[in-house]
This record gives sequence, structure tokens and C-alpha cells, in this order.
Amino acid sequence: MLELLLKVGAILEGHFLLSSGKHSSKYIQCAKIFEYPEYGEKIGKAIAEKIAHHKPTVVIGPALGGVILAYEVARQLGTRAMFTERENGTMKLRREFHIETGERVAIVEDVTTTGKSVLEVIQVVEEHGGKVCCIASIVDRSIEKLPFDVSFYSLAKLQLPIYEPDNCPLCERNVPLVKPGSRKS
Ligand code: ZN
Repeated sequence: MLELLLKVGAILEGHFLLSSGKHSSKYIQCAKIFEYPEYGEKIGKAIAEKIAHHKPTVVIGPALGGVILAYEVARQLGTRAMFTERENGTMKLRREFHIETGERVAIVEDVTTTGKSVLEVIQVVEEHGGKVCCIASIVDRSIEKLPFDVSFYSLAKLQLPIYEPDNCPLCERNVPLVKPGSRKS
């Protein structure tokens, strides 16, 4: 997995502001995997194999990072695929997507850092009457315990440097801080 991330150039070096507000010298840009559909398919298959026994009938990912992933995992599992998206900062299920009452939902995302986005998706699923049966991400870069009590799977656990903004060696060296990706925190 790490090899694949390096091969497609998904591991960026620099000075990054993470959605958690912390700083890091490394950022995982999973969109680079899906630049190559054959790798996207592989990733989707690997996640599908890990979660199939939970028997989801819907796979949901938060936009943008989870859209293609949810579609690919759902394609492998033969389920429906949906995505949540932010509207004025609040995570929502839009576009006439509909979850049946009690339906088993798998949540997938590209990179899990604090689990904050996943928590928001869980809330959306429950508001729509669904039941979250499992959660999976491509890369788990969490440090602290994730804030949800649902079976969690990842294809790779990476321990990447994370710094508090007021104690960051890159800030000290005046390296310009970059806010990568599409996620609005
Ligand atoms: Zn910094």
C-alpha cells in the first residue's frame, strides 16, 4: 500500500495545515490513486473484501475524497453508492439519495486523521434512519483513539509527523504553510 502511494505520488512533502488544525511535514493526497483507475479498482476491491461480511447495502463517502472510493467499493460489493457533501459547512445527504429505515450502511473515506468527518457522516446516516455497520479508509493516520464505536478498517496505518501549530519545527524555519486538498475544516 505504501509502495502504491509513493508510486502514484500521493505522499506530499512540505508544510501542511491539516483539517484538525495541526501541522505536518507530510500530506496524503489520495486523489492521486484515482488518477489511475486500475489502482482505484484495486483499492476498492481491497476495502470491499475487508467489509463484505458486514453485509452493507449502501456505501457512502464524504465528498470529495470519498465519492469515487464509495462508488468503487459499492461496485465491487454490488451495493448502492452515495456521497454526503457540505452545505454551508454542514454535512448533508442531498441529490435525492435515500436510505431505507434500518438499512446497513458502510462509510468509506480516503484518509482518516481525527475521524471528525466520519462522525458527521454517521450522524447524517442515522438522521436518515440508516444503521452504520462499518467504516473503512484507505489510510489511517490517526494518532488518538477514533471517536466512533463502529468496526473500523484501513488498508494502511501511517504514522506521519504531526505538530501543534505553536510547537512546529517547520513554522520555526518559516516554511510557507499550505492548506492542501479540498476539505473545508
Ligand atoms: Zn507549522
